[in-house]
Amino acid sequence: MQFLEFARICEHLEGISGRLDMIEQVSAVLPGLEDEELPIFVRFIMGRVFPDWSPKKLGVGPNLLYDAVAYVVGTKRSAVREAINATGDAGLAIEDLLATKEQTSFFVQEMDLLEVYWDFERVAAAEGARSQREKLLVVRKLFANARPLEGRYLARLMLEELRIGMGEGSVRDAVARAFDIDVRLVEHAHQAMNDLGEVALLARRDPAALSRVTIEPFRPVKMMLAQAGTIAGQIEDHGEVAVEYKYDGSRFQFHKVGNICRIYSRRLEEVTGSLPDIVMHLGEATDHDVILDGEVVAVQDGRPMPFQYVIRRFRRKHQVNAMMEKIEVVPRVFDILYLDGETLMDRPLAERRRILEEVLDAHIAPQFLVTDVAGAEAIYTEALNLGHEGVMVKVPSSPYTPGVRGRLWVKVKPGVETLDLAVIGAEWGEGRRAKMFGSFLLAVQDQGRLLPVGKVATGITDEVLADLYALLKDSVIARSGKEVTLEPKVVFEVGYSEIQASPNYASGYALRFPRFVQVREDKSVDEVETLDALAERYGEQKNGQGSL
Ligand code: AMP
Repeated sequence: MQFLEFARICEHLEGISGRLDMIEQVSAVLPGLEDEELPIFVRFIMGRVFPDWSPKKLGVGPNLLYDAVAYVVGTKRSAVREAINATGDAGLAIEDLLATKEQTSFFVQEMDLLEVYWDFERVAAAEGARSQREKLLVVRKLFANARPLEGRYLARLMLEELRIGMGEGSVRDAVARAFDIDVRLVEHAHQAMNDLGEVALLARRDPAALSRVTIEPFRPVKMMLAQAGTIAGQIEDHGEVAVEYKYDGSRFQFHKVGNICRIYSRRLEEVTGSLPDIVMHLGEATDHDVILDGEVVAVQDGRPMPFQYVIRRFRRKHQVNAMMEKIEVVPRVFDILYLDGETLMDRPLAERRRILEEVLDAHIAPQFLVTDVAGAEAIYTEALNLGHEGVMVKVPSSPYTPGVRGRLWVKVKPGVETLDLAVIGAEWGEGRRAKMFGSFLLAVQDQGRLLPVGKVATGITDEVLADLYALLKDSVIARSGKEVTLEPKVVFEVGYSEIQASPNYASGYALRFPRFVQVREDKSVDEVETLDALAERYGEQKNGQGSL
């Protein structure tokens, strides 16, 4: 497939609003693709370049992108920025800029979808002191060969936001439809393989194999997630529940085959080098080949320390030993996904738990099976007394569903409600804050789109504002007056007093008294709250449910 054709399909999809229509259009394209093209197309159409399990990252920020475009169209980076500020959309602005170039150049080399992908691989592979230069050369070449429409989608692919509204769920449905396969089977294979591109290829070549797909060690799977809920609600719905402490640490997935151990963060980045003590603890606790799920917690004098201590350890690349002495971290394992060649994710939690207790000698998080609300509330109070965040209330018969934030795991914690939201824009501050951002525009996700729900400005000290500015300043895509549009990369946890229906924001909701709590460095933008979950919370609030 030519990249131009891909761009035309994107353009066409961008003009459609109905989800079913979009699924239909994409499913019609998939069967005609070559084997090599199919996984790439499937990832690209979701705005992703590499499989989700892969450690590869493009590493192209807005500045590098603008430099490349400026070079190709014969202007300055500032002019590219201005053009983007004027349209508010990097893709459209770059398309317009390339249109001015097209009239002057005689020859554009046709670009193939596969060639674009190979160039992306080269960009991702560039490392070391000269990496920015190497990346720039490849990106320049891509734009030099791009027609304006191709430029629109090249730019958006590099910024990892295609803006055509094809979310993971829609692409999964399109794959199922294209090859006439039960969507549950596609979803199941996707959960284990963590790459819809490869699933699509298997769906075409050997659909029967989809049900036999197993998790592979050293290819991390997405973490199963929890929804906010209540103890009473969970017991009412399921009778018996498994209650665990909710640790205020950082999620990890531990893979071990023989003597080789690796640890992945919640964002599926490999963090083995930063956590040699966790590797040692878990390596010693089992002789089996395993994939374990748990939380790393920091402890001091037997009490848990706040999450910030743990995240510092996850980020630590140098002088890990010195840091180890300062902050002791320990694993709390609460699940097992793989044992000696076998995938366990379809087994019920109760059975996985039994297996976990058999194969791991230490570091298992306590679990309490209860059927009465009073009993569960007693554990909740105990959890808080021990310094934990609250409890997780899990359904004993539930499978492990990677990447799903559902009701099979419910989190219960006290105090203000919080939401994890994507930061998509900011506004310059005033007075002594004039050189920083003073407020931030936040969004929920819905089918691959980010929809605003409001702004947060309170709860942030000057010191934190300065840190946030340092974190976000290179992500500015466009400016307009006092406002900037940001490449969505950062997740804020935000407290609020109430969710309100509101026509002011595209999500249809707004937050009353939003308050900044912290940056969720362990979360990526595709993990932020969904519009559906927000709507559900809004509904619960109207029904007057409390936090227990
Ligand atoms: P949240 O980050 O607020 O969405 O809460 C879910 C997170 O709680 C998970 O991703 C884990 O990192 C963490 N967590 C702490 N204790 C547990 C537990 N016992 N079971 C599952 N997740 C836990």
